[in-house]
Amino acid sequence: EDTACRIAAGEVIERPVSIVKELVENSLDADADLVNIAITNGGIGAIEVVDNGCGISQEDTPLAFHRHATSKIISSADLENIRTLGFRGEALPSIASVAHLTIKTRVPTNHEGFQMVIQGGQVLHNGPVGCPVGTMISVKDIFFNTPARRKHLKSKTTEGGLIADFVYKMALIKPQTKFIFNHNGREVFRSPGSGKLHDVLASVYDVRAAKMMLPITGEEAGVKIDGYISKPELSRSTRQHMTVAVNGRLVHSSAVNTALEQAYRGKLTVGRYPVAVILIWLPFKQVDVNVHPAKMEIKMENEEQVMRLVISAASRALRETNL
Ligand code: ADP
Ligand code: MG
Repeated sequence: EDTACRIAAGEVIERPVSIVKELVENSLDADADLVNIAITNGGIGAIEVVDNGCGISQEDTPLAFHRHATSKIISSADLENIRTLGFRGEALPSIASVAHLTIKTRVPTNHEGFQMVIQGGQVLHNGPVGCPVGTMISVKDIFFNTPARRKHLKSKTTEGGLIADFVYKMALIKPQTKFIFNHNGREVFRSPGSGKLHDVLASVYDVRAAKMMLPITGEEAGVKIDGYISKPELSRSTRQHMTVAVNGRLVHSSAVNTALEQAYRGKLTVGRYPVAVILIWLPFKQVDVNVHPAKMEIKMENEEQVMRLVISAASRALRETNL
């Protein structure tokens, strides 16, 4: 089981940002509206995620570290109805199998919290602890028992940059949630948590850039999109600044990227790609999120319809600025 777990971990936990992603998704599934992320040395040193979500009960905490024990999928019909970001029940066991992990968690109905210390899958300690309602997970010595993977890591700067980019993107797609990000004890970023995407744009980029973003909306046959796209004068040299979420999940969608690029064809004056945040909502049963363990890849049944909608909404927003 230890080895199986470490192999499975390889698919989900590739680098520090994978750990941050899984922990942050859990915080959001727990309905946190404050997620505090602190890393040292690009996350290679340590990662800590603290949330004010629902917490985990004392009985359930050990279960959360057993593979698939918490899997939310009971039948294949459930696979078509995934509303939470997590559903495989393998992130926490995977992280705990390749690192040193401490969890402190408390549910609102309990006056004290529960703590576990796990090292390479072995529980070293568990018992009551004083802590606020919510969950704190800290992870260090990442890949201490899988040297090949450890060697595969890039520089602290690169790994830290991937984490920062992930936090910015999550803040953009979850404007209701306040994200705080610290690196080596210094605050790098804080989102307002006001619920307004435009406010988050101003905090991720700056006020001037936010003023150059155009709201877009569109709706057709059960598919809804909204978000912001940049005026053609604001652009970037990479696709990194096109942020796409489907049903509240941050995704990589080359289809949506292509659609956006098509709407800007011949319009961009400087860089090659627009800045954009596109939030897409479609019936849950039209999205397959179970394509890859990291859950960033998805399959949309009606991809072409979504592309057309993105092109028409973006084109409309761009036309209106010229009026
Ligand atoms: P999954 O998210 O796929 O269910 P995880 O291994 O990521 O699996 O988490 C296991 C379980 O632990 C979750 O289903 C959830 O019940 C609980 N859990 C994990 N993190 C948190 C958190 N921050 N707050 C509340 N519950 C959590
Ligand atoms: Mg999860």
